[in-house]
Amino acid sequence: MSIANLARRVVRALTPYQSARRIGGNGHVWLNANEAPLAYPFTIEGSRLNRYPECQPAAVVNGYAAYAGVEPEQVLVSRGADEAIELLIRTFCEAGQDQILICPPTYGMYAISAETCGVGIVELPLTVSRQPDWPAIADRLSDVKLVFLCSPNNPTGDLVGRGGLIALLEKARDRAIIVVDEAYIEFCPEASVVDLLARFPNLVVTRTLSKAFALAGIRCGFTLANPDIIAMLTKVIAPYPIPEPIAQIAAQALSPMGLELMQERVAELNLQKALIKTELTTLPCVREIFEDKGNFVLVRFVDGATVFAAMKAAGIILRDFSTKPGLENSIRITIGYRGEMDAVLAVLRDLPAPRL
Ligand SMILES: *Cc1c(COP(=O)(O)O)cnc(C)c1O
Repeated sequence: MSIANLARRVVRALTPYQSARRIGGNGHVWLNANEAPLAYPFTIEGSRLNRYPECQPAAVVNGYAAYAGVEPEQVLVSRGADEAIELLIRTFCEAGQDQILICPPTYGMYAISAETCGVGIVELPLTVSRQPDWPAIADRLSDVKLVFLCSPNNPTGDLVGRGGLIALLEKARDRAIIVVDEAYIEFCPEASVVDLLARFPNLVVTRTLSKAFALAGIRCGFTLANPDIIAMLTKVIAPYPIPEPIAQIAAQALSPMGLELMQERVAELNLQKALIKTELTTLPCVREIFEDKGNFVLVRFVDGATVFAAMKAAGIILRDFSTKPGLENSIRITIGYRGEMDAVLAVLRDLPAPRL
């Protein structure tokens, strides 16, 4: 018997999340993980490293609360938004009994975290207009503890409709928690639903420094919710989840200068996104361009496999979604700087004309 057989049944059966970094590849243009194209200079001061860090570093909590327009009691810092997702499940779902609800195609970690926690998953696919299926979700509210919505949605780039969300929050009051994952909200800040936290105690918003803030390497994310929910999550989170150097860097990113840098970067990436979309519409190999509210654009090609292979041969690593239901021939392109977008377009222009 292999010692691995001692692992829990769900873990033995689990297909691990295929993160962009795990899939990897040999490339010099990395446009597969929705990362920012450039790093920024932050400094670390080492004099406190002999001490355990604060569980919830005040400078980071207060900085993020001010940035997001909420009270510090409504903020939890975690190791990336990924840890926030898992904490929500571990805090609110009974293993072997409770379920979460997701609307695929969407971010993969909701399902992976539920599975590793022994929590069931109700899947209600997005509608043809790529919105959550509001009536179907409302019908299942008694069966689920958490509903995960992603806005802008990874990988389709759509925003969750505000009217539908508000109606769902009303129906779910005292019954289920609605989580809105705003990992990409800096690319369309006007679409945030954080203002609804004041009206709905069952709303949770998750955020991250990994995308617009260009800090995927430090693993720092946030949960915004009413103080009762934050207090529950604080019971479950590890005693020292945020290493001191990470807290120092996050605090710098949330300073007025850090925020200004982030906003400049977002403006530049949104400009590059508009430019590449315009070019893509002129190419015969492109069949459909999805919504673009994040720092990425999902494109349905006439022949996705050929495009993916040609990009790979040119050292450009993209993310293939063609095996996901409804996303045949679709590839997600992270928006990078001008040179990277030009490299993508050059490969597409060189493809032989597709036979339609
Ligand atoms: C990237 C991403 C995350 C993970 O963020 P981390 O803070 O890096 O863990 C969460 N949700 C969505 C939708 C993402 O795309």
